[in-house]
Amino acid sequence: MNVSHRFAALAAAGLTLTVAATSQVFVLPNAASASVASVSQVQQAAPSVAGGAAGAQSASAFANKSLATKNRIYRTGRLTDVNCRTGSLPSGSTAAYKRFLTRVTNCLNTAWGSQFRKARLPFSKPRLRIITRKVNTPCGKWSAGADGYYCSSNRTMYMLITRKQLRQPFPLGIARLMAHEYGHHVQQVSKIWSYYWTARNRAGSSQRLALSRRSELQAECFSGAFMRTLRDGRHFSDQQWNYTVNWFRQNGHKAWPQNDHGRGPTQAKWMTRGYNSGSPGACNTWAASARNTT
Ligand SMILES: [Zn+2]
Repeated sequence: MNVSHRFAALAAAGLTLTVAATSQVFVLPNAASASVASVSQVQQAAPSVAGGAAGAQSASAFANKSLATKNRIYRTGRLTDVNCRTGSLPSGSTAAYKRFLTRVTNCLNTAWGSQFRKARLPFSKPRLRIITRKVNTPCGKWSAGADGYYCSSNRTMYMLITRKQLRQPFPLGIARLMAHEYGHHVQQVSKIWSYYWTARNRAGSSQRLALSRRSELQAECFSGAFMRTLRDGRHFSDQQWNYTVNWFRQNGHKAWPQNDHGRGPTQAKWMTRGYNSGSPGACNTWAASARNTT
């Protein structure tokens, strides 16, 4: 049994997880319209309720495209290497798996907290909820096949540990998934998502897909920027990273019957942009041309 074989098996295991990973947020393969509609109502409800007397002003602010295209988070440079110590992830230990998820989340909190400080934007951490079976969230039902989920109305990242992953955990895949979900939290806290959800609620179906792609591709790029901080040989090899990107290039779109996450090559491109630059400034999918967000 040679090394590359073993590696391929490992990667495949991890990437099953990652596919689900990109998936979960609001873009639900089958029940798409129902789930998406309920989620967007939740999304809209939050600002308008909070708006109160300042409602009119809030409404125009929330619709402001520059929140997405010119956000201050883009001008914060590279994510700081927070010397993340994730520890090992042996198979079969739920306790070790939970510890790993918690540690990666702490690293994400530190790295992104520092970016928000640089941007002089208020920041708050997401909650992490580790689950071993599917749950309903305030954003709707758990989508089949998803292993992670970010719900913006309670700002919670849900991470599902399945028996299969427990048997054969792939740390790179799991970290990438968490960083993607965290990317949605960054979009939420920086108010990029205020523009997204407002625009989305007004859009027709093909425009909705186009907006969804910009949102998902950005989360993936933010994920890449964080993954770059782990590139020190302790967490994963260049070979593993390249394998992961190639896997997405070929398979990243397959879980989505509608093109709401972008084509495989487009996903791979934004992952790589984030990773190569290490900076959220490389992740401005909202100002990118339509042909770069296909
Ligand atoms: Zn996503």
